[in-house]
Amino acid sequence: MHEMSLAESVLHIIEDAAREQGFSRVKRVTLEIGKLSCVEPEALRFCFDSVMQGTLVEQAELQIVEVAGQGKCEDCAAEFHPESRYDACPECGNYRIRITGGDAMRVYELEVS
Ligand SMILES: [Zn+2]
Repeated sequence: MHEMSLAESVLHIIEDAAREQGFSRVKRVTLEIGKLSCVEPEALRFCFDSVMQGTLVEQAELQIVEVAGQGKCEDCAAEFHPESRYDACPECGNYRIRITGGDAMRVYELEVS
């Protein structure tokens, strides 16, 4: 399950930030998940809870913000919000689209103490 390794990489990012900024508890983690990132928010939530046990993130509340996908047609240059990586351009029906956003997951905000 790749959500497990994603949760682990989130933990590493937070641990690095804790070392740099000197906090010892995280109260809230806000993650931004792109609609095209293939990350299942519910699965991630489940993995998050088990990965964070016994760490400085243990008590933290997890907030997930989903961001829409962004795509651009290679043919007619229309920009739109595809629901999947394999959507056709809504303007010309072409399948040669380039994903320009909403395809990643990132730590958006940490509330720490
Ligand atoms: Zn097009």
